[in-house]
Amino acid sequence: MEVISTVIGYPYIGENRQWKRTVEKFWKGNLSEEQFQKDLKEQRLKNIQRQHELGIDYITVGDFTLYDRMLDLAFMFGLVPERYQSLVNETEFTRYYAMARGAKNVVACEMTKWFNTNYHYIVPEYEGTRLKLTHNKIVDYFLEAKNELNIITKPTLIGPYTFIDLTKGYDQKSRATFIFQLLPLYADVIQQLVDAGAEWIQLEEPSLTKSLPEDEVRLVEEMYKQLSESVPAAKIMLQTYFEALTSYERLSQLPVAGIGLDFVHGKKENMDSIRKYGFPSEKFIGIGCINGRDIWSANLAEVVSDIQSVLSLSGAQSVWIESSCSLQHVPVTTISEKQLDPVLLNALAFADEKIKEIVHVSTYISSQHWLEEKVVSKSMLAIEALSTHSARHNKNIHASLQSITETDFSRALPYEERRTIQKQVLQLPDFPTTTIGSFPQSAEVKKTRAAWRKNQMTDNEYAAFIKKETARWVEIQEDIGLDVFVHGEFERTDMVEFFGEKLSGFAFTTNAWVVSYGSRCVKPPIIYGDVEWTNPMTVKEVIDAQKLTNKYVKGMLTGPVTILNWSFVRNDIPREVVANQIAIALRQEIRALEEAGIAIIQVDEPALREGLPLRQENWSEYVNWAVKAFKLATSSVKIETQIHTHMCYCEFNDFIDPIRELDADVISLETSRSHGELISSLKKNAYELGIGLGVYDIHSPRVPVVSEIMGILEESLQVISIEQFWINPDCGLKTRQESETVAALKNMVKAAKQIREVTGSILH
Ligand code: GLN
Ligand code: ZN
Repeated sequence: MEVISTVIGYPYIGENRQWKRTVEKFWKGNLSEEQFQKDLKEQRLKNIQRQHELGIDYITVGDFTLYDRMLDLAFMFGLVPERYQSLVNETEFTRYYAMARGAKNVVACEMTKWFNTNYHYIVPEYEGTRLKLTHNKIVDYFLEAKNELNIITKPTLIGPYTFIDLTKGYDQKSRATFIFQLLPLYADVIQQLVDAGAEWIQLEEPSLTKSLPEDEVRLVEEMYKQLSESVPAAKIMLQTYFEALTSYERLSQLPVAGIGLDFVHGKKENMDSIRKYGFPSEKFIGIGCINGRDIWSANLAEVVSDIQSVLSLSGAQSVWIESSCSLQHVPVTTISEKQLDPVLLNALAFADEKIKEIVHVSTYISSQHWLEEKVVSKSMLAIEALSTHSARHNKNIHASLQSITETDFSRALPYEERRTIQKQVLQLPDFPTTTIGSFPQSAEVKKTRAAWRKNQMTDNEYAAFIKKETARWVEIQEDIGLDVFVHGEFERTDMVEFFGEKLSGFAFTTNAWVVSYGSRCVKPPIIYGDVEWTNPMTVKEVIDAQKLTNKYVKGMLTGPVTILNWSFVRNDIPREVVANQIAIALRQEIRALEEAGIAIIQVDEPALREGLPLRQENWSEYVNWAVKAFKLATSSVKIETQIHTHMCYCEFNDFIDPIRELDADVISLETSRSHGELISSLKKNAYELGIGLGVYDIHSPRVPVVSEIMGILEESLQVISIEQFWINPDCGLKTRQESETVAALKNMVKAAKQIREVTGSILH
């Protein structure tokens, strides 16, 4: 049997985010183009060298990018929208980065989430212009490794079906033309790779794990038939991930030399399919068995036994033992983590450690011997040690979880009755105005925080500064004339980290960065233990603000599902249980806010929709427990306490039902960029609770004029009644400048006054 170890892709950011620094330096003009290319080349080769030293058989190239791999392909195929033509005389890099980030007078291409990950890719736009192969970067990368390191690598490309599936701008008719033009270009790229000496070419096709209707399956068959006929000499590994291969019976028969399957996230379905339909005997099978989406060490004995089942079911004689998806979704190495609890550290595996696991497992599969004698027992001991760690055995939390009953998941009265009572108690005007939570984090705020972190400032001095900034913004809000205030969130950098640092069960790494988009990296906290509330986390700052005004100041929390979805989460208990633990902690915080006299409490859930599984048939299970976690956190309040929530960065059109189930008294939604769409979907599917559709886009420094906001308000009135209508910007304002924020909010308040007049509504 032929056994090869490989990964689908490796993180390009580098152990110390060298890649990010190089790219940003170039953007700022502090690096010549030549030096930029030289530095990146060095980083690429180092990454390959590193994987080589870790002992992996087959190293991938083409997993490296200058910004995003979808953009790389779009650029390579000449898919450059018309609006960038003005940059035709600029360098290749200037045009490339203009598409990624915009340039003077040209907006950037849209960016959106890469399947169900936290990575965001650039959406290619097809405008009907002729495609052409400009510069085959992948061949450069292949030759670079071959010539400089003497290593034959496996070039990877996002496959043609996924590429067209994620490209925007065509209709049914132009789609055919698009595909017709695109396939020969893929064939060209592949042929050039074969000519350069590539043995295998990996085509990544995550879109083949979505549910596909019959005509799409037929299209995929047609595309691959054409491709294989035009490059008969190429050995193609069709790599699927994030879920099981869909329509297995047909798609496993595609004319390619190998098929890679995800046996972590699509394990059961892939196994069942192989059992039912077999695996084509002439093909290589890629067994994605090491999780590329989590940070935990694998139980090697279990992995080996899974692989053995796949082998015996499939009868495959040629196998690739690989990661379940690209390792770009995990940090580079645990080596630089010096401050973590050793028990936790031992149980972690980032990219390099995962590669070692793959090497170990594949060696065992081919030789029936472990490379190191104790490797299996070591992996089990590490997992065992973490599972018996006291952080995972918090009796209080287990008791609270046990004692939850159905009544904990719902408010004492239905919304209709709560609304009447809240209206009487709160005495807010019609069309109340408010903001989403954060106000601009000025250079001074950032500077002061940095000084405090470096111990150049005492805790008291820092707290006094935050208090002063909060007070200043209370006054600004009075001046603007808003109805419901916020304290401004000056004490927070990140809405998850802030809570994680105050709850038990979280750990923070020093260097575990992953790319979120472009050069932006995030360092998600690790939820490794039971989550428990110990002390009030937000009360002081909110109360400081409340004392200064007669207006209501909203309490401001991040919701349980968002905290979960933006962290790396322990894998020994279901995510649902972790969500409930966080919910119980937040419930205690909400109680503390209520006890301190806060009447309106907002629990943000911007990441609620992000957790949706890829396959629509699995949505309801997730939505059920996610909604319940939110309700567990928010339902035990007094009838008159008004619960708000906020969501953004996503499409709500197919998500109104889950939003309604949250039973939040008020929701604010980001809509300013897709307002019309939301209005039409609210026409079809009415929403009855309190709601504020974002009236201007906070992502832009532009100050909206009153008439523009009025337009949005009037349009919204078609689907939202006066009783439920709130007025707010579409997200937090922390990235904006003070002057534009104040000007925009003043216009928003003016528009609110106008709409009250127009509708003849009451002012309390
Ligand atoms: N309350 C948060 C803020 O205003 C919400 C942020 C978000 O929606 N991502 O910053
Ligand atoms: Zn938001």
